[in-house]
Amino acid sequence: MVADTSKLSWMTTKLDAALGWARKFSIFQYPFVTACCGMEYMATATSHYDMDRFGAGFPRFSPRQADVLFVVGTISHKLAPVLRRIYDQMADPKWVVAFGVCTCTGGFYDNYATVMGIDTVVPVDIYIPGCPPRPENVLDGLMKLQEKIAQGASAKDPLGPAGRPRELQVPHRPEAHLWSAK
Ligand code: SF4
Repeated sequence: MVADTSKLSWMTTKLDAALGWARKFSIFQYPFVTACCGMEYMATATSHYDMDRFGAGFPRFSPRQADVLFVVGTISHKLAPVLRRIYDQMADPKWVVAFGVCTCTGGFYDNYATVMGIDTVVPVDIYIPGCPPRPENVLDGLMKLQEKIAQGASAKDPLGPAGRPRELQVPHRPEAHLWSAK
């Protein structure tokens, strides 16, 4: 006799949806803040923009208690292994937000010391470009992150430039990168 599993799959689908809904309003963020974008990050955290209404107003300063890694500011090659270690210390499921164009692509830096995008070090789920991004951009990115969390999706590999949104795939000096813009 073959067991009827249709009801079971209906229940697990509903359970996943309920978990996704709960998770998207329960964001425990770890702020990895290194540079000037931190000012705008703090501005966004004020009562005027009210990140609490997205369930994201409570930062955690231990990666083991966080599920969203906010990378805010320039990342140097010396700092990259530290960033990777913080990411590895977070429990699954986890998400990464690149805050500011320095984290997205390296920004206006074009030198031996700066990582040309944190997506060469850790998987990135949401890119928020801008130098620095306005709080409204940050909230837009936060809502996109909520959609992704609700769907239960998260980036698994550091994809580098190929995984970026199209508008972030144009380097300011193509010969400095491992790929060339067509
Ligand atoms: S994107 Fe601009 S504001 Fe943000 S860390 Fe880089 S230089 Fe500073």
